[in-house]
Amino acid sequence: MERAHTLTIQKTCDKDFIRRVEEASEQEVSKCYQCGNCSASCNYTYVYDYPVNQIMRLIQLGQKDIVLRSRSVWLCAACQACTTRCPCNIDVACVMEALRVMSREENTVSLKDVQMFYDEFLKSVKTFGRVFETGLLPVYNLKAMKPFGDMDLAPKVLQKGKLHFLPSRIKGRKHIAEIFERFEEQGKKKQEPREVNEPSHSQ
Ligand code: SF4
Ligand code: SF4
Repeated sequence: MERAHTLTIQKTCDKDFIRRVEEASEQEVSKCYQCGNCSASCNYTYVYDYPVNQIMRLIQLGQKDIVLRSRSVWLCAACQACTTRCPCNIDVACVMEALRVMSREENTVSLKDVQMFYDEFLKSVKTFGRVFETGLLPVYNLKAMKPFGDMDLAPKVLQKGKLHFLPSRIKGRKHIAEIFERFEEQGKKKQEPREVNEPSHSQ
């Protein structure tokens, strides 16, 4: 059985995936020697399908499909505890971030509602310069088809003055919007050569 499993891993090994993850994250994933410190520090291991050290090992083995379709990649809170504790100085959180970007590009996002939350959060920051929770949550809840999600928390949060009915107007709003524009421009440039090289499927 073990031998058959090893052969399966060899068959599905995508060496280009290893290179792409290392390039996108600017981290040497090959340095990981599976000490497990990252998973021991991660508060989300209990909900992950693969603990973060196993994600690192799966990358080393070129298991693109398993990694990019995993729940772990989208449940990661980018807290950086793993990065802080890695004895090899690998920025593990940055690797997880690179995997989220690749998972979007390959259309293999396992948790669409988490992706939707990220998108709505960033839209709010782009529009107001900082997140406007009172506007974000109803829009997200409606899109995620859970109109009353977390509504029970509203009275408590309102009482503590943590939610505001109008967005605050921060000074550097224009500069924040410019950061988004620059990022979107870079994304378009990245797409250009790919579109040119892609073979046409239309007959
Ligand atoms: S950054 Fe992600 S993987 Fe790393 S410890 Fe935090 S939640 Fe876990
Ligand atoms: S802490 Fe670093 S070396 Fe240890 S398993 Fe995690 S990534 Fe690998």
